[in-house]
Amino acid sequence: MKTKRYRRKIRGNAISPGYALGNAVHYFSPGHVFRLYIPDDAIDAEIQRLQLAVDQSRRELMSLRSRIRDQSGEETAGIFDAHQMILDDPALLERIVALIQTPHANAEWAARQALEELQAEYEGVADEFFKQREMDTQGLFERLHRHLTGAAGHEKRGDIALVADTLNLALLADFDLNDLRGIVVSTGGYTSHTAIIARSYSIPVISGIIHVRERIPAHERIVLDGYSGIIYVDPSEELVREFEEKVRQERQRLHALIGEKKLPAVTCDGERVILEVNAETEAEVTSALGMGAEGIGLFRSEFLYVCEKDGPPSEDKQAALYARLAQRLYPLPFTIRTLDIGDEKLRYLNDVKNTPNPILGLRGIRLSLAKPVLFKTQLRAILRASTLGNVKIVLPMISSLDEVRDAKSLLAEAQEELKQEKYAFDADIEVGIMMEVPAAFFSAAVLAREVDFLSIGTNDLIQYVLAVDRTNEQVAGLYDPLHPTVLRCLRDVMDVASQQRIPARVCGEMASDSIFALILIGMGVRNLSLNPAALPYIRRLVRSTTKEKIHRAVEDILRLDSPREIHRYVMEHLNPLIPSDPQELHQPR
Ligand code: PEP
Ligand code: MG
Repeated sequence: MKTKRYRRKIRGNAISPGYALGNAVHYFSPGHVFRLYIPDDAIDAEIQRLQLAVDQSRRELMSLRSRIRDQSGEETAGIFDAHQMILDDPALLERIVALIQTPHANAEWAARQALEELQAEYEGVADEFFKQREMDTQGLFERLHRHLTGAAGHEKRGDIALVADTLNLALLADFDLNDLRGIVVSTGGYTSHTAIIARSYSIPVISGIIHVRERIPAHERIVLDGYSGIIYVDPSEELVREFEEKVRQERQRLHALIGEKKLPAVTCDGERVILEVNAETEAEVTSALGMGAEGIGLFRSEFLYVCEKDGPPSEDKQAALYARLAQRLYPLPFTIRTLDIGDEKLRYLNDVKNTPNPILGLRGIRLSLAKPVLFKTQLRAILRASTLGNVKIVLPMISSLDEVRDAKSLLAEAQEELKQEKYAFDADIEVGIMMEVPAAFFSAAVLAREVDFLSIGTNDLIQYVLAVDRTNEQVAGLYDPLHPTVLRCLRDVMDVASQQRIPARVCGEMASDSIFALILIGMGVRNLSLNPAALPYIRRLVRSTTKEKIHRAVEDILRLDSPREIHRYVMEHLNPLIPSDPQELHQPR
């Protein structure tokens, strides 16, 4: 008799590939906290329960702090000090205990009540410091609540399959990414920044699962197939063994592919493709170098800003980091993108409002030009780190010639200042622009005359050309890199770059996908900046490809007008060109 292979099978959207086995750990913000009546004889036990949760929270904060300090430095780790300080305040604990003792309330409710009273004290104060304390209070309550309800604890280690409402950076920061086997979320799109980070750590993510908490109970063993987007709840031993074998084979393949890191990415008919990597952190740069990256094609500097609590990172701090990375990479290029903050608003920029459409708002170069002091600090830091000559600057979200000129004139000012102050810097530092706003594509020829290189950001390009929010899984089906208009935009900008003889790279996630990478190479792109996890796969892909063949296929594709026809053509003609098992490479979605 055939035994059941799993108790439940759930289908979602695969937004980060890979296989994973883990125990479900729920991670949700507490919604409504119920008030329960605690009888006299249970009061002591309730206070003990509170004390235990406080101790666990304190220990957790300490270890989180030391981990973040090791990974990102003392200043970043400081974000946990405020939580620690509030928790250590004896008046707070006394108040929670009083609320348990007198109105006979449960510890969760008493803690919320006491922390709300504390928040109310901060509320009336206009000072940014107190606004920040208000947020810290909320964060601390969430931590305490997780310990009180048993939703935290041992699950922070071991084979974790995180089950959450949504992906955000704060959530990932709470875990050691090396312990996370997989993530299941209700909402989150393929090109959201957290999905990009999960991919770079090879953590499979499946999104778009409604009622995720009910369907995947806490502590349940689950298997994630991050290629097909399927989750198996309570798998049979046989299914577990199958997936363990897949994980093992995947590791082995990756190991073999990384072994090819010294081989150049050259097609069978001799076309050289430069493979750089996108990075957000120092650790990613180090691991990219270990995998044979030929440079950092996109350093998303905003992560530096997101980690700060009281104000933007200082010029010295930025300069030290950029210089360290430039030196480690030398002579490989290090392309730093200036601050590109989108919907993840910076806490200390309190005059930048939360708006309903942050992706159409004050982000990227617009924010930098609106805040010239902030921008010039970053430009000065980049310049100070440029002495070796391998640092380049790329400006995000450019939509007009004036933005390029205004940014360059601030750069010239920064250079002049540094000269006066006797700092050394690369006076010929290259400046490029992100090509990601439709207006930039229509004005590509004009903009290309003004800059040294183009970096094509397909993540935003697709979002803006097709009017599809890149983070919204409800319209994920419409987010189509193979849409004929997207492909023609790419072809046209490559034509402009070759006419004007300036380099153009593609640094959106499209470059990290096997099929799309083939199309880009067939279109003439010779520089791809990849998600680090994709680098070994794409190198193998390039080495097994004949440019002439894909070039002809791409010419055919560009003559097609219907997305459906293009998809059909790609499945028939390009899919077979991908070497061996398609899962060996990032699969087309
Ligand atoms: C892009 O838009 O394609 C890009 C590379 O930048 P980001 O994903 O950071 O917006
Ligand atoms: Mg972008």
